[in-house]
Amino acid sequence: MYTKYIEMVEVSPRDGLQNEKAVISTSAKLSLIERAIAAGSRRIEVTSFVNPRAVPQMADAEAVCEDLPERDDVTFIGLVMNLRGAERAVATGRIDQLGAVAVATDKFAMANQGQTSDGSVEASCEIVQRAKAAGLTGQVTIGASFGCPFEGEVAEDRILAMATAIARSGPVEIGLADTIGVANPAHVSRLVERVGRAIAPIPVRVHFHNTRGTGLANVWAATGAGASIVDASIGGLGGCPFAPGAAGNVATEDVVYMLERAGISTGLDLDALIEINGWLGQIMGKDLPAMVSRARPFPPRMEHGKEIA
Ligand code: ZN
Repeated sequence: MYTKYIEMVEVSPRDGLQNEKAVISTSAKLSLIERAIAAGSRRIEVTSFVNPRAVPQMADAEAVCEDLPERDDVTFIGLVMNLRGAERAVATGRIDQLGAVAVATDKFAMANQGQTSDGSVEASCEIVQRAKAAGLTGQVTIGASFGCPFEGEVAEDRILAMATAIARSGPVEIGLADTIGVANPAHVSRLVERVGRAIAPIPVRVHFHNTRGTGLANVWAATGAGASIVDASIGGLGGCPFAPGAAGNVATEDVVYMLERAGISTGLDLDALIEINGWLGQIMGKDLPAMVSRARPFPPRMEHGKEIA
């Protein structure tokens, strides 16, 4: 069953950039955020409040927040791993929503945030509660929901138990993340449906990496199974510094092309996204993995009976 509208969360300023070796300037990050808003983004993961020694690319979290555009209609998300990060995000006065991460396996939870899996569930619930106490909202993403770089297969029942526990803290949504890009569409359909039923009416968000080329198929499976929110990164940038072999997020423009062509609106302007891809590629000094930006527009853009590029 497909809905008429899917909400997109732009994660390029955080997940997209955090794994890039070249440090991107604060002003380029702010420009990326402004361009995404101009293209229609209304929810953007703008930075993460983590130890700058662990993730140098996010060392300017406060500086990014200070100059965020004044937009009441845009939700700015700050990713935090613990209460210390939550306090930093709240202190900026510019973050609307805290994003927490619980990790499905002990080994990955240790590598990512120095906790056991259960510890990460507890911490994420505390972060949601801290967000609400500060008048913000909180959401939780379950990392390695479909497979772990260290422990391999992850049992669906484990994800279900985590989602049920997290739901009690009152997040606005729970995300299922395929951090290392190993999910397949059948697995995605099953897990999204089961988690959706367990946490209703809390919505399911999905977060896919295209490491093995199944990203778009997984988005299609997830939205068909009831996920109503999709994370994506302009250009398909992305990766996880703590997950060996993780590649880029699904590209915003590729997801928007697929959904809009299928009659599902996203509120995003595809041409504007493709323009941002070109700009971002110049900033990064390389071609970005997204597919749609390399192809001719379709249907062709006509002017005076002639196709324009
Ligand atoms: Zn990710």
